[in-house]
Formats: sequence, C-alpha cells, structure tokens
Amino acid sequence: MDDCIFCQIVAGDIPSRTVYEDDDVLAFLDANPLAPGHTLVIPKDHHETLNDLPEDLGSEVMAALHRLTPAVEDAVDAPASTVAFNNGEAAGQEVPHVHGHIVPRFEDDGGRTIHALVS
Ligand code: 5GP
Repeated sequence: MDDCIFCQIVAGDIPSRTVYEDDDVLAFLDANPLAPGHTLVIPKDHHETLNDLPEDLGSEVMAALHRLTPAVEDAVDAPASTVAFNNGEAAGQEVPHVHGHIVPRFEDDGGRTIHALVS
C-alpha cells in the first residue's frame, strides 16, 4: 500500500536497520526504541491486523519471532523480553500494518506491564 510506512520500508523507500529478512518476513529496528534492540517483525505483504493475516503468513511471522527473540536478547545482553502485538487502533496500534514487537527487558527497567510498555 502506497501510504503505509511499513510497506515503504519493505520497498526500500524509507530507510531502516534490517535485523532479518526472508521472502515473507522483514524484521528491523524500531525508530523510537523502548529499549536497546527493540525490533519489529512484519509480514512483507500488507495486512492491517492479525485478524486479516492469512494463517500461513501468521505462522511465518511467529516462526521469525521465535527465532529472533533469543537472538535479539543475546545481542543486547538482555535476560528477558516483552513480545507483543498491538492489534487494532483501540489497542494502541499506530501503524496499520501487522507488526510484532520484541522489546528487550532488563532487571532494572521497572518491570512495566505490556500495556504500559508498547501502547
Ligand atoms: P504500534 O504502536 O503501532 O504497535 O507500534 C508502531 C511502532 O512503529 C512504534 O514503536 C514506532 O516507534 C515504530 N515506527 C513508526 N514509524 C517508524 C519508521 O518509520 N521506522 C521504524 N523503524 N519504526 C517506526
């Protein structure tokens, strides 16, 4: 979609820091990170929410999250992470292109809830 920021990142029209890429999925660093290493994982095809995402593509996104979460934690030496989707505008989703957040967490980061962290 022409006016979608994340589709423009997929197309290379907006620069981003790629963490991982395959035929169906792209992962890149969040431009306004909540913690060092904050990574977004998206399907390359445009779908607004998880509800619109075909199941096979959802599986690809989940597989990437599964592989990338420990790798991101290792990269920034984090003992844990919050992995979450804001699914729909009322849930705080600001970019209407499905994306999972990997937010590395640290012992001294205050232990904020998922809602306070990613919305
Ligand atoms: P949401 O609130 O929709 O779940 O999260 C959207 C995320 O996208 C936010 O964490 C925000 O910082 C990030 N973001 C918005 N625009 C850009 C951009 O142009 N580039 C990158 N890398 N991240 C972006």
